[in-house]
Amino acid sequence: MTTTPPLRICVLPGDGIGVEVIEATVPLLEKLAHGAPFAFAFSRHPAGALHFRATGDALPQATLDAAREADAILFGAMGWPEIRYHDGTEIAPQLDLRIALELYAGVRPARAIPGLRLPLADPRAREIDLVVVRESTEGLFASRGRGVIDDDREARDTMVITRRGSERVHDFAFRLAQRRKARGRPGRVTCVDKANVFRSMAFFRKIFDERARAFPDIEARHNYIDATALDLIRKPWEFDVLVTENMFGDILSDETAALVGGMGMAPSADVGDRHGLFQPCHGSAPDIAGQGKANPTATILSAAMMLDWLAERGHGDALAQAAQRLERAVDAVFAPGQIVPYELGGRDGTRAISAAIASNL
Ligand code: ATP
Repeated sequence: MTTTPPLRICVLPGDGIGVEVIEATVPLLEKLAHGAPFAFAFSRHPAGALHFRATGDALPQATLDAAREADAILFGAMGWPEIRYHDGTEIAPQLDLRIALELYAGVRPARAIPGLRLPLADPRAREIDLVVVRESTEGLFASRGRGVIDDDREARDTMVITRRGSERVHDFAFRLAQRRKARGRPGRVTCVDKANVFRSMAFFRKIFDERARAFPDIEARHNYIDATALDLIRKPWEFDVLVTENMFGDILSDETAALVGGMGMAPSADVGDRHGLFQPCHGSAPDIAGQGKANPTATILSAAMMLDWLAERGHGDALAQAAQRLERAVDAVFAPGQIVPYELGGRDGTRAISAAIASNL
């Protein structure tokens, strides 16, 4: 029985498999809301590369307004390799939304789902349960659309690290580690940087150390980006929360996705102080779009993160319980080893995976 007004969920399916994984996820949220003390009002809005080709606008103002007014945003994937802006860069409204809505923390968890085949043979790989927090509004991406090429001789892109941007993302990472510690994780944040070479990165690390003092219950560590790329293969089970610059986070989170079974298993959230956008880590995957082969699990787990975030923002504990139900349903599907997604060499596509999760709810 619903007692509160419906939560407004702005749905942006986007391009390619974005549309397919969203269609596999929304019915699960509707099922969770059935008989629950919360309800959802979903509204779908256009944006993305195909929309740009049709209209010349990748992110219409009406879509941006709807995203801003919603309680949460559920996002599929956007972009298409052959459709580009005039300067040759890809259509990426997700990057524009991060700036427009100040979604500064890119939260990318990687957890080994019991029973799922993993690329690392070491049995400790089953213990992988980490989160990459990617600063999402500055870093090297601050140069997007602003890089320069002089006379076809020299090109430059500039990394921007601000005190405000670093403080808020480090604080976010420490608070996340505290919440995870309450659930049995070690309570550790690793600052990933290249402080031995770049001033901008030494500054990022300095601010990390300053903020660490405000969180004495959390262990603060440093690791260079190159060592981290190696350690994530050698001993990923030792990481808890990692916090890093935008570009490094972009790269590392693809690596952590691979550790737990591929892009189709990796959820993410882009969170700011006022808005939250939830989307799989993967892109529109033109190579498999329209074939029903996309694994919707990443999007379904992103939806679980959305429920958790809405609960944290005071919309009711029932949402946190629903998030847990959804996660448990995902685990129950993969644990027996009967459902194997295409990307892991199996024959289970979007519909089969979504239906199996629905039947476990
Ligand atoms: P972007 O830069 O927009 O994040 P990308 O260029 O990194 O995108 P993706 O679209 O994420 O590329 O695809 C990378 C590879 O992973 C492709 O081979 C794609 O088929 C595969 N892939 C991505 N998502 C899924 C999914 N949900 N299920 C199965 N395979 C996927």
